[in-house]
Order: sequence, then C-alpha cells, then structure tokens
Amino acid sequence: MALHKGTLAIFESNVGVSDAVLLHPLTEEAFIANLKERFNHDQIYTYIGNVVVSVNPYRKIQLYTHDVIDEYRSRNIYELPPHIYAIADDAYRSMRDRNLDQCIIISGESGSGKTEASKVIMQYVAEVSGKGQDIDTVKEQLLQSNPVLEAFGNAKTTRNDNSSRFGKYMDIEFDFRGDPIGGVITNYLLEKSRVALQGQGERSFHIFYQLLNGADAQLLQTLKLSADPLSYTFLSGSGCVVVDTVNDAENFRNITNGMDIIGFSQMEIMAVLRLVASVLKLGNIQFEHRSNIDGTDGCKISNPQELREICDLIGCPQENLSVALTQRTVKAKGDTVKTDLNTAEAYYARDALSKAMYSRLFSWLVQRINDSIRVTCEVRTKVMGVLDIYGFELFESNSFEQFIINYCNEKLQQIFIELTLKEEQEEYVREGIEWIHVEYFNNAVICDLIEKNNIGILAMLDEECLRPGSVTDQTFLEKLNHNCASNPHYESRGCKKNQSDRSLPYDAFRLKHYAGNVTYRVEGFIDKNNDLLFRDLSEAMFLCQHPFLKKLFPEGNPTDKCLKRPVTAGSQFKVSVTELMQNLLSKNPNYIRCVKPNHDKKAKTFDIDIVRHQVRYLGLMENIRVRRAGYAFRQIYEVFLYRYKMLAQDTWPQWNGEPQEGVRIILEAQQIHSDEYAIGKSKIFIRNPKMLFDMEERRRD
Ligand code: ATP
Ligand code: MG
Repeated sequence: MALHKGTLAIFESNVGVSDAVLLHPLTEEAFIANLKERFNHDQIYTYIGNVVVSVNPYRKIQLYTHDVIDEYRSRNIYELPPHIYAIADDAYRSMRDRNLDQCIIISGESGSGKTEASKVIMQYVAEVSGKGQDIDTVKEQLLQSNPVLEAFGNAKTTRNDNSSRFGKYMDIEFDFRGDPIGGVITNYLLEKSRVALQGQGERSFHIFYQLLNGADAQLLQTLKLSADPLSYTFLSGSGCVVVDTVNDAENFRNITNGMDIIGFSQMEIMAVLRLVASVLKLGNIQFEHRSNIDGTDGCKISNPQELREICDLIGCPQENLSVALTQRTVKAKGDTVKTDLNTAEAYYARDALSKAMYSRLFSWLVQRINDSIRVTCEVRTKVMGVLDIYGFELFESNSFEQFIINYCNEKLQQIFIELTLKEEQEEYVREGIEWIHVEYFNNAVICDLIEKNNIGILAMLDEECLRPGSVTDQTFLEKLNHNCASNPHYESRGCKKNQSDRSLPYDAFRLKHYAGNVTYRVEGFIDKNNDLLFRDLSEAMFLCQHPFLKKLFPEGNPTDKCLKRPVTAGSQFKVSVTELMQNLLSKNPNYIRCVKPNHDKKAKTFDIDIVRHQVRYLGLMENIRVRRAGYAFRQIYEVFLYRYKMLAQDTWPQWNGEPQEGVRIILEAQQIHSDEYAIGKSKIFIRNPKMLFDMEERRRD
C-alpha cells in the first residue's frame, strides 16, 4: 500500500496484508500466519474491515508518540496502516461532525491488552480535542481516573501483572465543539474474593501493597500499620508480595496525587485509606474456641488489640464489632435472640465483612469520581463510550464468577452478531443489493438459557435462593437438570442424555457457549448469589463514626425495619448487563479485538496454538467471511459525490442531476470495473477498500 508522503519510518514497509478482508486464500491458517508475520515486524494491528485486531507486543513500540497521533489526525481510516488511533479518530469525528454517539467495545482474554487499548483511545481523544483551562482540567480528571481505579481494582494474577478485576464502561461526554466536558464510569462485579484469598503467585489488589510501601512512617502510624506485607494474613498466603514490573511506592504517590487532581479532599483520601487499613487488619483478627455453659460452641477474639485499632480507625464502639463478629441475632417467633458463632463461622463472618467493606468502598470510589467528572450543566452532549470488560473465561475449575463473566461475554457476542453480521446482511436486503447468505451461529439460544425470565438458569438460581427449607448447591443443580435437560446447550451428569459422559463431574453442569464448552462446579453458587452479610455486621458498620462507612451499609440502619431481601448478585448483574446492552445498542459500535500472543508475558513470541484458540472464540473468521462476502465500504450518495466530484469532469464543479447518477459517472471515469461496486438504493457499496484509497490519492494529487 502506497503511503502518504511524510509517513513515519516505522510504517514505511507494510508487511503481509493489513486488512484481513483482502487475504487470499482465506483460511484460518493464513489469517494467523498473516497476524504472525505482521507481529514479527512490530505491526501489531490488523483490520478486519473496520474492526481492529491487536496483538499484544509485550514491549514498548514507538506507536504512541505525538508524531504518530498527528499522522492519524483527521485522516481516512484506510489511508494509513491499521492503528487504534485510526478507529479512535473515525469514531471521534463521526461523533463530532455527524452527531453519532459512539462506543468502542474492547474484548479479549486476560492479558491481551484491553486496558492498554482503552488508555490509548483516551490519550488520542485527549490530544486531538480542544485545549483550554477548563477542558484541560476535565481531561486531566478523566485520565487520572485510570490509575486510581486500577490501584483499587487491579491485581497481579498469573496471567497479567496488572489484571483488571472488574469490568468498566466509561462514557466520555463532549460538547458541540467536540471538547470533553465530563464523563460517567460504570463498574461491574469486582472480584472481591481476592481480598481474603489469592491463588499461588498472585496478589491482592495493588492498593494494599502501594499503601504499605509508599506511606511514610507517620501515615503508617496513623493507620496503625506495619510496613511489611507479610505481617498481614490477607497478603501473606499467596507467596507473592513484590512484582518486578511494578513500583508500588511510586504508584502510591501517583494515585494519591491523582485523587487530589480528581477532587478528593485530604479528609476523603484519609477516610479511604482508613478503610483499606481496616480491611487488612480485619484479616489479622483471630478467634479462639469457647465452650458455653449450655454445651454449645462459641468463640472470642484472641487478639483484642487488633480489634481496638480497627475500631479506632473506623470509629466503631469496640463492643459492637466484637459482638457482631462472634454472635448472630436470630429472630424466632417474634423474639430476637443472640446465638454464638463457632470459630469457623466467625472466620467466615470476618472474611465476608472484609470483602463487603472493600467492594463497597470500590463502588463508592467510582461514584465519588463520577461526582467530580459528571456533566452538571444542561448542555446537549455527544458521547463516546469505552468498554473494557473481562473476556471469556475458561479455567480448570469454573464457578459462579466465571458463569457471570461468560454470560456477559455471551451478551456482547450477541450484539456483535446483531450489529455486525445481521445488520450487514439486512442492510444489503434494504438496499436491494444481491446478497450471498453467510451462515452464522446465533447465540440467542444460550443467552435465553441463562437469562430468560422464570425459566433461565439465573431465575432458577434465584428461586432456589428464596425457597424455604434445605437448599443446597446440589438441589439447585437438580432443579437445573430437571428443567434444562432438553436444551441442546445444557449438559449435566444428572441428565439422561449425559449419563455416561465421564468428563462431567457429578457436581457440575456444562454450557456450550459460543466460545466453547465450560463446565461449572455448582459449589458456592447459592452462597455467592445470595451474597448476604449477617445483619449484625452491617448494623455495626452503619453505626460507625466514619465519614462514609454508613453510606456503604445502608441496610444496617437499625431504624429501618424493612426486611425486604436485597437483590441477589445474579439478578443485579443481569440488570446491569441489560442496561449496558441497551446503552451500547443505542450507539455506533467500534470494535477492538485483543489477542495475546503467548502465556508467558514474553515479547517477540507468537504461539500459533494459543492465538488460534482466541481467533476462534472471538469469532474472527466469521467476521471476515461476512465482510468479504459483502462490501467493505459504503457511503450515502450525497456524501460520496461531494467528496469525489472533483475526479470527473461531468460532476465538477457542479452536478445538478441525481446524486446516484453522479456517483456512477465518477466511478466510470475512474475506470473501475462494475464488479467492484454495487449501486444500492441510498448508498454506494464498494467491495475493496483499496479502490477508495486510490481515489483518495487522486483527490489529493
Ligand atoms: P485483564 O483482562 O487481565 O485486565 P487486559 O486485556 O486488560 O487484561 P492489559 O492489562 O491491557 O491486559 O495488558 C497486559 C500487559 O500487556 C500490560 O501491562 C503491558 O505490559 C502489555 N501490553 C498490552 N498492550 C500493550 C501495547 N500496546 N504495547 C506494549 N505493551 C502492551
Ligand atoms: Mg484489563
């Protein structure tokens, strides 16, 4: 592909095929080989039409400099080599000039580069939009929200040293000039179990290590902390407290500074740190067994000093927390009685409280950031949304969390299908263009299996959680087996059709997702879906003298006699996913599909098998097939005519006939073969983007 003069050296030699739609022959093997060849030459981006496939280079490449941004500014998408900037520019200009709200959906597995891609987009938008004191302040706040939320929501996992353990959707709002004036962040399902327990070699959320390493002696003393992460039960069990690629102390200064820029007061920052410290210290609370006079088991806290310090930090009367951690109020026949927890139950309560405190603190942080960046004035805004959300997960052992995450991916795939594939086909029909039908798998049937009212798996889980009597994960599984046996996407050892399938454990069910089969163990489903915290604990938290702890535990208000059950984790997630889908569907979608080249976080290593797996579950071949069967580019006649009328004598400078006729004359004047384009009712359809590129060149000459 010839390049515009002045193109940076790095782009001068285009390797392989930059738009996979043009691959010949089109096979999965050829597609992957092309990605590999480009990757080997640091060309990590490849298009499928206007979808960007990005392969994580695991090293810094000079792709994100000011000069590169300048190259991509206001240029047509096919003019330059593939880049996220090109998509960001296209989305930004469509939003600004054509008033179309945009969303950029970034998907891919853990470590594939989603979060980095979302930052690249934000960086681009910040650079190309207007300047000025107020605008710069907004930009700075939006950009600073990233490191702050990463500190609290990201962690080192075996797959990624900076793995996002929550889903994030951010709307950036712009005024009519296209200058950012604010934003709104929505967070999804933080992996709160990580607070109390991490896998070997993994860490808890970054903030804990940042605080311990970065706080000065005085701050540590105020927060009653010791600097050594190994002195905390919640941090010492996983065998990992240091990450080579991460400077915790420096990041601590960065994020407290970031919070300051966003608008947190010093008092608020301290209030946040007090909660972080309390969570760490709660993990060190120990219980010892105590036999009651009536022969029942009870327990007491064996390190009251720790309890005292926690209570100081959160403004809690000691008695309140100590009772809430070791006893439980039970209502029976109109009476309330306190029963003792045994040590195992007390540890469970302690961990549940720590996780609840942390995850609610996280949601509070998101809301607090929103309070700062939200657009308050009544101006009509245009919006660009960026979705950075966990990809499809398939582990050795899969539980409720994977079920929820994969459900979300199934929904994202559904809108991908709806918008890209179905829309594409329907548009040809609408435009009266001949269409070769492309078979594709419609995953609506799996979405229904999971989410359908009353009969979906989520509904059955809720029903089981509400059912009085002895409810266990196993009774939930039996219910599923009874109701879903006939569904072709559901399998379980308890169903007749799968009785002899030894690969299925007895305590699990398997779903045939669009991306592959996943076996979910039911253990913990009921508990995790209920997500209940003993009321004694929320009441103790509600009664604390802390600036906002009360707000985090509203259900603990003792005067609030409403005993309505809180919504379950599953239905809450379903509601937020449904809202997200509606939001995305109302916008013009842009896609970035991230691919991880190896499992070792290594540069210059491209493992074909690992990539193939992702190419399959991202549905990339299907994507190319549809694009290829059809036309890579389309434009309404008026716009096309206006842009290219200078290329034909008959249409330049003025054309008075029908726009459609004018476009035909332009194309004929370019001696373009009629196979290369199709005349639709309102749009011109162009098969090969190269043709457009040539026309752009001629226009400029
Ligand atoms: P998760 O789902 O676990 O959050 P992710 O898809 O968000 O994963 P990232 O955190 O964006 O993955 O990327 C993982 C790491 O890969 C980064 O910390 C960085 O080291 C490297 N990386 C990703 N994208 C790029 C890039 N474009 N250039 C250089 N390095 C990159
Ligand atoms: Mg991430």
